[in-house]
Amino acid sequence: MSASRKDDCLLRVDEQTVVLAKVKGQNRPKAAPLRDFPLGKNPRHYYQNISGQICHMNKSITTFQAKCANCGQLFEHPSLGDQAYGEMILCSADGKHFAWISAFAELPQRVSALLPGASAMVFWNAIACLADPIASQQLTPRLHCSFCSSDNIEFWEGERIGVMNVPEALFCDVSELPTSELKLRVSESS
Ligand SMILES: [Zn+2]
Repeated sequence: MSASRKDDCLLRVDEQTVVLAKVKGQNRPKAAPLRDFPLGKNPRHYYQNISGQICHMNKSITTFQAKCANCGQLFEHPSLGDQAYGEMILCSADGKHFAWISAFAELPQRVSALLPGASAMVFWNAIACLADPIASQQLTPRLHCSFCSSDNIEFWEGERIGVMNVPEALFCDVSELPTSELKLRVSESS
């Protein structure tokens, strides 16, 4: 099988039966049975969870303990530590969802070119703002407490806890924007 139209962002489910395809002119990827979509050249892997929701490709990432300075709760968060150069864990504004992204992925590379000389903080903030929300929650480059959503964190990367499956951040909403519009979105993020 091959991609039917080059404008389509064709997304493949691993062993499951559902595919997301971002079709030109539509803002949202739509799910459809695998047989209805050919596989793209660069398929992004998805799966359907037991609730029928479409989930992103996961990466197993070590988790550590963090403590919220606002509510005092201990919570678990994934961290790449020093292991993964150019990768970042984004956290949803409510602290309940995480996504990982590489600075060398396609959209981050386009953003990087639009932000020459920018600090890492400015860059990752722009990436987080452009990433597709998860469960309607905007992503941020900062760790948020999963109990009270505060980003006032007393400590993080504390005691090692385990491993968490973290989806890759996606940019379906902005990936097809022309450079001029992407530049506008990037400037709005700072
Ligand atoms: Zn808290």
